[in-house]
Amino acid sequence: MAHSVKIPVPGSNKEISVHTELFINNEFVPSVDSQETIQCFNPATEEVIASVVAGSAKDIDRAVAAARTAFKTTWGKNVTGWERSRLINKLADLIERDSQELAELETLNNGKPVAIARDSDIGDSIQCLRYYAGWADKITGQTIEVDNKSKMAFTIREAVGVCGQIIPWNYPINMWAWKVAPALAVGCTIVMKPSEITPLTALKLSELVVEAGFPPGVINTVPSLGAVGGATLAAHPDVDKIAFTGSTMTGRKIMEAAAKSNLKKVSLELGGKSPQLIFESADLEQAAAWTALGFCWNTGQDCTAGSRVYVQDTVYDKFLDILVRTVKATVIGNGFDQKSGGGPLVSKPQFDRVWGYIDSGKAEGAKVALGGERRNTKGYFVDPTIFTDINPDMKIVSSDYLNIFGPVLSVGRFKTEEEAIALANNTTYGLGAGLHSTDASQCMRVSGLMEAGTVWVNQYNALNNNVPFGGKKQSGIGRELGSHALEEYTSVKAVHWNIGEKLQWPL
Ligand code: NAD
Repeated sequence: MAHSVKIPVPGSNKEISVHTELFINNEFVPSVDSQETIQCFNPATEEVIASVVAGSAKDIDRAVAAARTAFKTTWGKNVTGWERSRLINKLADLIERDSQELAELETLNNGKPVAIARDSDIGDSIQCLRYYAGWADKITGQTIEVDNKSKMAFTIREAVGVCGQIIPWNYPINMWAWKVAPALAVGCTIVMKPSEITPLTALKLSELVVEAGFPPGVINTVPSLGAVGGATLAAHPDVDKIAFTGSTMTGRKIMEAAAKSNLKKVSLELGGKSPQLIFESADLEQAAAWTALGFCWNTGQDCTAGSRVYVQDTVYDKFLDILVRTVKATVIGNGFDQKSGGGPLVSKPQFDRVWGYIDSGKAEGAKVALGGERRNTKGYFVDPTIFTDINPDMKIVSSDYLNIFGPVLSVGRFKTEEEAIALANNTTYGLGAGLHSTDASQCMRVSGLMEAGTVWVNQYNALNNNVPFGGKKQSGIGRELGSHALEEYTSVKAVHWNIGEKLQWPL
């Protein structure tokens, strides 16, 4: 197998060169023992664009050992916050320099439009790295008064150590940055396992890790199947923390493996079937626009996708008309076509799953208000689909079933605020929730009662690197972003210091 591949960029005479081996100790290396490869597809054309080495359990062992050595010798306590900050900033600069090429590679493997990959996903990732670079020299503990004369206590926030980071395919670069940036800032070392569906940009970013000047072993990348590399990381006795984004089912397995191995620290960012409430006082045009964004952004492949919308009876018909008109304007197409606002779904299994949901919605009696028709073209394209006349037991609505992860919306109705809140909270998930109303006290009241880690008021899906993000209920444990993420990658050591007390023994 070739050790790198040159992938042609559609519509240009450019080629993007990508290493196809594992990245350990700042080098691209073959597997110790695996002959397996992972095939990477372009979801817009269904063609194979690269074959990447599929790392084995032994490869994970090797990457963990590299990360442990780096933690003990060149990173962790061996490097100042200033230096960590400088290197993280340098990495951000290099990503900014290469953002067009990285965006094209993201589009080739994931499908999303190039401009969105570049300006939104990568733009946000650069900002995320810079945000945490700012934190690197500001990791502090407390001094705590325990005795006014002879004793004191203080705390130190210490890097937890070697972190396994398991990321999904919906935001390959962005999820990489959300995980890597806070871990590096506090001094942790990393074994990254990208999704087997979209490993290419993580490998390309590895080249920039070397160019930025990170010591060997600080960030290692092992493309591997989830049940192999992911499971090995989760169960690894020498991994101190796992950070995971993906399905609730896999999150459960990771927590179990962590518990059974070494009780490693775990943070999980999982799925949802997030609700939005449209109250009668809302600006309906705006509410429709945010609703469209809520379920069509990233072609619905979003853990926070607002896939259930409940509308107050009195404005239901009017809102539905506006919504259908608004969503009709959405263009799903090839990510290299500048007109596309959304790309294809990422893979054939994902395409089949989403059609499974759409077919179930029809079979269970929901009415199609928009979409629901298959295209007769190549590529995993699904047009936005809106269902009405829903009930809570339908697969498209119920949290007994995974999030749809496609541009599919269920629209229901309510009469009272209490009913709206009950409908919104009728789920085992609790990731995102939205509400639209111009009544400020209603906004305060309802946002306080919605059971979600993030509530958006008169908007949807807005995220900022300095604001924490994560789930309640079965949508996750722990928080990413903001200062909260630093807590996930550190542990607190308390030091009790005797300055002058003489112990009289025996007491
Ligand atoms: P997944 O949970 O299977 O995969 C996410 C990551 O976990 C990948 O890197 C995968 O290799 C890894 N993984 C899989 N099995 C593992 C195991 N046993 N131990 C450790 N790691 C493992 O998700 P998926 O199959 O890619 O997608 C399935 C569904 O999950 C989606 O349709 C969607 O509902 C949900 N999902 C959610 C998010 C999110 O952002 N919350 C992202 C991707 C997928």
